[in-house]
Amino acid sequence: MKRLIDTLRQEHVLAPHQYRALLTTRNPSDVEYLMEQAREVAQQQFGKGIFLRGLIELSNVCRNDCLYCGIRCSNCHVTRYTLTREQVLACCEQGYAIGFRTFVIQGGEWGEERSRWIADLISEIRHGWPDCAITLSLGEHPRETYALWREAGADRYLLRHEAHNSRLYSLLHPAGMAIRSRLQCLEWLKELGYQVGAGIMVGAPYQSMRNIVEDIEYLIGFHPHMIGIGPFIPQHDTPFARFPAGSIDLTTRLYAILRLALPQALIPSTTAIATLAPDGRRRGILAGANVVMPNLSPEGNRKQYALYDNKAALGGESAQGIKVLENDLATIGYHIDWSRGDSPDI
Ligand code: SAM
Repeated sequence: MKRLIDTLRQEHVLAPHQYRALLTTRNPSDVEYLMEQAREVAQQQFGKGIFLRGLIELSNVCRNDCLYCGIRCSNCHVTRYTLTREQVLACCEQGYAIGFRTFVIQGGEWGEERSRWIADLISEIRHGWPDCAITLSLGEHPRETYALWREAGADRYLLRHEAHNSRLYSLLHPAGMAIRSRLQCLEWLKELGYQVGAGIMVGAPYQSMRNIVEDIEYLIGFHPHMIGIGPFIPQHDTPFARFPAGSIDLTTRLYAILRLALPQALIPSTTAIATLAPDGRRRGILAGANVVMPNLSPEGNRKQYALYDNKAALGGESAQGIKVLENDLATIGYHIDWSRGDSPDI
């Protein structure tokens, strides 16, 4: 097994059955070796600095009905909100003062009639904080909309592909959504010059080990700048309420495999992994993740952006919240890197 891990580190690719072996080995010393190698590669690329992204949850209004997601349009228990332009700018102001140099505007997917409003918001952020990166995570849109937002000043776009296998994708999404369109969006985003992030939920209902291997292969082929991966966590008002959560173990193995396959990728230790265990975020970093995304959204709206149950809160809006994160990182010998943290691939 150690030879396999060395090969992955040197050649950045393995055969499907070999990824499977790494994902399923029960030998703790093999798993530890995998983590060690991934950590070393992350440290070669980024040192022991962890990039921060300030997450602003723009709106929980969504036209989609993804079966796993707490803000799906048919969940009538959600109190819907959309931040005002002033609220978003205030989040940026507060975040900038603390030291954030990347803002991630994430939200439910809206119709195209509001794309202009978003473009205006992006230009205001661009002009207000010219030295900051603007990341969007607003779902699937026509190429022209992505182009409009890019011209307005957006630099990066996160759009998890969720499942490369079309059958699994269909089991996770309502009729009318197809992996084809999602992959097309990811291609457009790259063509338009965004730094692009793709990824999946680990342990999503109906997901097999084979599916995960297919996702690894897709990610290696697509070569995204960022990789967003977190465990699936059930939300009580969705059709998947009774499915078990994904595991931290499998999620961290995937971080490590992808770190070795794509050494320069920006890989967040996600909120979902932090939700499953108090040491989840640290375990992600020790598996080769190098980004953390504290929340800059107004306190009053955070509970309403409930994608899954018991979502962890890492408040980045206060110096105190950042101190907690700094201390947490220090326990494993890491520190915050306050730079914009662009992809080394560009
Ligand atoms: N609407 C945008 C989109 O679809 O990309 C951004 C918001 S969407 C809620 C962000 C991500 O949340 C999704 O890509 C999905 O992987 C994740 N997510 C949603 N429900 C989840 C759940 N129950 N457990 C873990 N992650 C979840």
